[in-house]
Amino acid sequence: MNELALVGVTKAYNHGRPNEVTVLQGVDLSVAAGEVVALVAPSGAGKSTLLHIAGLLDTPDEGTVTLGGQDMTRLADRRRTEARRREVGFIYQFHHLLPEFSALENIVLPQLANGVTAAEADARAMSLLETVGLGPRAQHRPGALSGGEQQRVAYCRALANAPRLLLADEPTGNLDPGTSDVVFSALMDLVRGTGLAALIATHNLELAARMDRVVRLDAGRIAA
Ligand code: ADP
Ligand code: ADP
Repeated sequence: MNELALVGVTKAYNHGRPNEVTVLQGVDLSVAAGEVVALVAPSGAGKSTLLHIAGLLDTPDEGTVTLGGQDMTRLADRRRTEARRREVGFIYQFHHLLPEFSALENIVLPQLANGVTAAEADARAMSLLETVGLGPRAQHRPGALSGGEQQRVAYCRALANAPRLLLADEPTGNLDPGTSDVVFSALMDLVRGTGLAALIATHNLELAARMDRVVRLDAGRIAA
């Protein structure tokens, strides 16, 4: 089953004004459960807009967005926010960890906000950290971790609430190439361990080649 399906998605900004710009022009894109798809796009192609629509942060002008078989396109804002918190994990180029909390706490907090008990949240956070080789770093604050370690903690946090869909925008973008390689392997271990659907935007063609499929976005269209 396709966990994520975008069908005929169009999006423009500045509707009806002289500076109206059509960013997405009939995008069809599906990601199956357990599939890791690379999204490669030149700057300005509409990558951020596409990720925001797929992640239920924004809505298309036309077309549909289906997540886990449910049409999310015309949900009321509050319902869409609930669905996003439940179903979608986000990873960015920069980790955005909370500096006052330990690595473990950064992964526990989103689970507590979701109603998971402290004991369960701790156990899940620890197991995620162990998957990425950071068990011994669990009590460190982000400032005491290397850039690659911080990024791995952010991956664990994105998966804390077991989302259906993982969206990542240049998940190793701020790391040097050697570190990037190791840290990307950790991300793949996490994703492979859960069977979720992942859409990972990257300019790094070597990383893209390690994913299941590469999709190219060019001038608002998926290129063949
Ligand atoms: P990418 O992430 O591929 O660089 P974006 O989706 O951010 O592309 O943007 C695609 C195009 O849409 C760009 O030309 C950008 O200037 C324009 N754009 C993005 N967001 C807005 C907005 N909120 N208002 C107007 N134009 C926007
Ligand atoms: P919280 O549950 O902390 O209120 P939100 O529901 O606002 O968080 O956001 C859930 C996820 O969506 C977070 O991972 C956050 O980084 C991401 N997010 C929220 N708003 C935006 C935005 N405008 N642009 C990019 N990502 C966002």
